[in-house]
Amino acid sequence: MAADPVALAAELLRCPSITPAEGGALAVLERVLKGAGFEVHHAIFAEPDTPPIDNLYARIGSSAPRLAFAGHTDVVPPGDETTWRHPPFAAAIDGGVLYGRGAVDMKGALACAVAASLDHLAARSGKPKGSIAFLITGDEEGIAVNGTVKLLQWAKERGETFDHCLLGEPSNAAELGDTIKVGRRGSLNGTLVVAGKQGHVAYPERAENPVRGLVTLMAGLMAEPLDQGSANFGPSNLEFTSIDIGNTTVNLIPGEARARFNIRFNDCHSQASLRMLIETRARAAAGNGVRWHIDWQPSNADSFVTSPGPFLNLVVGAITEVTGRTPTLSTTGGTSDARFIKNYCPVLEFGLVGQTMHQVDERTAVADLTMLTAVYRRILDRYFA
Ligand SMILES: [Zn+2]
Repeated sequence: MAADPVALAAELLRCPSITPAEGGALAVLERVLKGAGFEVHHAIFAEPDTPPIDNLYARIGSSAPRLAFAGHTDVVPPGDETTWRHPPFAAAIDGGVLYGRGAVDMKGALACAVAASLDHLAARSGKPKGSIAFLITGDEEGIAVNGTVKLLQWAKERGETFDHCLLGEPSNAAELGDTIKVGRRGSLNGTLVVAGKQGHVAYPERAENPVRGLVTLMAGLMAEPLDQGSANFGPSNLEFTSIDIGNTTVNLIPGEARARFNIRFNDCHSQASLRMLIETRARAAAGNGVRWHIDWQPSNADSFVTSPGPFLNLVVGAITEVTGRTPTLSTTGGTSDARFIKNYCPVLEFGLVGQTMHQVDERTAVADLTMLTAVYRRILDRYFA
């Protein structure tokens, strides 16, 4: 059974699967994959204080080599729908462009992966030479605790294994084929807290203004780069995102001042070494005069990079042959579910062009859907040659 990636993408886009709602999107994938002979499982995960999430696992074949496609069907909210050129869940095609929330992030790429798999199987009388799996979550755009992390664990407990994984996040910057993500930076959040002594602003000698200490520490932490980058990554970066004092009284020196920050870090650091580096620099900036500490938030986002090798060569070769472009190997951008998948098998990310992801009028060229399907098909044919 062949599948049309454009029709399938449009059908997925019409499902209002705003995270964490399933919206009918997994049901569409289940119907199509079952029709092609995949064994399909739903795995519903929940935790206290989080909504239950529906996830889908599908597999055809059981022998090696085992290739998995991963992705998510949930989408971010559309915002003010009246500002969209076409309604966000109508899947309108206008001038060769498919509009809709999730068009590039990432229902479009999921449709391409399914269509390519069905085409590949159809050319082999429906039987894979190894096995093809789909790991699809409905919890990527939200808090991401009942999604890929648990789905991978669930699959492992069932004895499922994967040799390689392709994640269809919108990896390309401007044109299909320009970028493949081979890793991701880590992300760590902290709050810098400086203690003072509240008092009248006209009698500063009787108070201790924490704003002075906060500014000193912030300046100290922003003064020097965290590193010079590494072979696969640009330099790590610390950004302060908020200064929180909350003082509405003009003649009052506040008793405490806080500043929140986020660090996107490369493979020069572990979370522990990074925390130590920041605290050492804060200590040096503070001297003896400032009472401070940092509250670190737990993070499940370490940096990682997928090593060069035959799988990367195969994927790059397929992209180059189909698109005519040699993709840049990139580790830029935010985190993705690849950070969880990498604990199970090597993972690469290649999908559509990400320019309009999370924006009003999210869209993809229909020609890109056809071309991405051809890329995935070429990867499958090579992988199972
Ligand atoms: Zn995404």
